[in-house]
Amino acid sequence: MSSDSNNASEALTFSELGLSPKVLAAVSDAGYTEPTPIQAGAIPHALQGKDVLGIAQTGTGKTAAFVLPMISRLEKGRARARMPRTLIVEPTRELAAQVEENFVKYGKNHRLTVALLIGGVSFDEQERKLERGADVLIATPGRLLDHHERGKLLLTGVDILVIDEADRMLDMGFIPDIERICKLIPFTRQTLFFSATMPPEITKLTEQFLQAPVRVEVSRAASTGENVMQRLVKSGSKPWSKREALRNLLNAEEPELKNAIIFCNRKVEVSELFRSLVKYDFDAGALHGDMDQRSRMAMLSAFRDGKLKYLVASDVAARGLDIPDVSHVFNFDVPIHAEDYVHRIGRTARAGRSGKAFTITTKADGKHIDAIEKLIGKKIEWHDGDLSTLAAEEAEEAPRSGRGRSGRGAKKDDGGTRQRRGTRTGERNNTPDRQPAPDATPVEHNKPAASAHDRPSENTRSSGDRGKPRKEGARGRSREDDDFHAPLGFGEDMPDFMKTAVRA
Ligand code: AMP
Repeated sequence: MSSDSNNASEALTFSELGLSPKVLAAVSDAGYTEPTPIQAGAIPHALQGKDVLGIAQTGTGKTAAFVLPMISRLEKGRARARMPRTLIVEPTRELAAQVEENFVKYGKNHRLTVALLIGGVSFDEQERKLERGADVLIATPGRLLDHHERGKLLLTGVDILVIDEADRMLDMGFIPDIERICKLIPFTRQTLFFSATMPPEITKLTEQFLQAPVRVEVSRAASTGENVMQRLVKSGSKPWSKREALRNLLNAEEPELKNAIIFCNRKVEVSELFRSLVKYDFDAGALHGDMDQRSRMAMLSAFRDGKLKYLVASDVAARGLDIPDVSHVFNFDVPIHAEDYVHRIGRTARAGRSGKAFTITTKADGKHIDAIEKLIGKKIEWHDGDLSTLAAEEAEEAPRSGRGRSGRGAKKDDGGTRQRRGTRTGERNNTPDRQPAPDATPVEHNKPAASAHDRPSENTRSSGDRGKPRKEGARGRSREDDDFHAPLGFGEDMPDFMKTAVRA
């Protein structure tokens, strides 16, 4: 495998990369003056038809690194019915839709036919597009295979295959699907393969399916963003302590906070935190993997368009989203997987801007913080004193009743608990398009098997497969499946009135 150094390629201009004049015109219209390192490193090789292994995260300009050379190469030839010429596989529907937007932007001077095959929408329209012939097919793995199984799609005409966010595919259990897809496409194809990290399973995949790839790696330090100010924020470990710490922080940051993504580890926490924030008058919406496609897209565009200030999200739902100009990232939970930290903070300080990332940290989070600091190669400073400076009362986790509150209101913060019990009394805002619907269902202890938690968020089963889980990858469950350990009843959130003795 040959490799390309960032520095050597950084000096190149767009016009030196070998892109066609029509593509260069679109790039110039997009306002880009010089290629990012992943673009400068990958595009010349991709244009020569070589396989490329790009190790880069979102926010580095990696989408254009494969879309631009693809458009240039597609200028010759035309599509045939049911036989797409190129295929891009994305782990989530949102990422697939974003790549489609990139084709619209950079392909404005071309007449390319682009088909999007994602779950959660009807097969018919997708089949019609396939029938007409597609230059570019952008798909999530399950839906792609479903179309193939229905006999509506032939992959033998694919000249360029792009596997994007491969490590994300691994997390979501899609690797067996990816292997199947790679085997359905002629060996003579060109493969462009992108991953933010290279765990052993991904390395194995590249050894199996790439031929003498050029390796282009964007250094982690640069891609985690030197212009992100990162801070740890001390908190007691109970959910209400963390919610209070977050509210204080949101209020304190208000003057320079344009918009923020607030990350939780589990979708049940996404729902609880969202409801709590809305109760406290924060302009919040929620995004997690169980929401249907339309609600997710609506939520995302509201956030993108500035109609929504705070987006509470899980990793699965938010990873890879291109939301330019997010001023703040808050980790309501310290991510369990260190690489998720890098992905999360990568949502801010994109394309040369600066941003802030705050991580609410409790005593129980020590080992995860250590792992993150090891991965990013530096210590993260404390915002306002470390955990040893936590008030004794907080450290002992005093019960909620009678505790002082700050923030925008002094309302009792019990929204999450009530919601878990399915009671909506006292809730301020029931705006339907901000409701992460599935979590309104009470979670039964150790019994989520029949829910969507057991499979990747994509709704992609073919009729024959329905009811059977698609074969999972090495890591099996997706990260949102942590809900599997949902607490019994109120869990740790037992409200005080429940402890009062009842007179017979
Ligand atoms: P990506 O890593 O593909 O998600 O891209 C991150 C963001 O960078 C997107 O908003 C792109 O529009 C933007 N971008 C991509 N290439 C460039 C470039 N050469 N110069 C400035 N911005 C870019």
